[in-house]
Amino acid sequence: MHHDPSCIFCKIVEGRIPSRKVYEDDEILAFHDIHPWAPVHFLLIPKAHITSMAHVEAAHAPVLGRMMSLVPELARQEGCRPYPEGGFRLVCNTGGDGGQEVPHLHFHVIGGPRPWLKG
Ligand code: AMP
Ligand code: ZN
Repeated sequence: MHHDPSCIFCKIVEGRIPSRKVYEDDEILAFHDIHPWAPVHFLLIPKAHITSMAHVEAAHAPVLGRMMSLVPELARQEGCRPYPEGGFRLVCNTGGDGGQEVPHLHFHVIGGPRPWLKG
């Protein structure tokens, strides 16, 4: 599996930086955001280094599909209230204009009762 030695999320995957894990399998990791915007805020990443959504190719479709399909159950498990009153926000900041700070593809899953810090 490809890791970038200078990438902070690759270091989390490899256990070189600690994280509070929400979910893990052989291809995917989810962990709590260190600066949460809302009562529920975790990140879902492919373990292999993909720089951003702008770098996604057809070969990535299976892992991206699995990441998406994990969101509802993990959101419920982490305390997002049921749809439609509850729900969550699924965010994938991409590139400079997209507000991406960490160049390893990640989905933010953000939820819980408002108000939230951002949004
Ligand atoms: P983005 O702006 O979409 O690239 O968001 C990157 C997110 O990663 C931010 O919400 C940060 O709070 C979060 N983050 C950065 N470093 C860590 C870390 N070591 N553990 C958990 N979350 C982190
Ligand atoms: Zn990485």
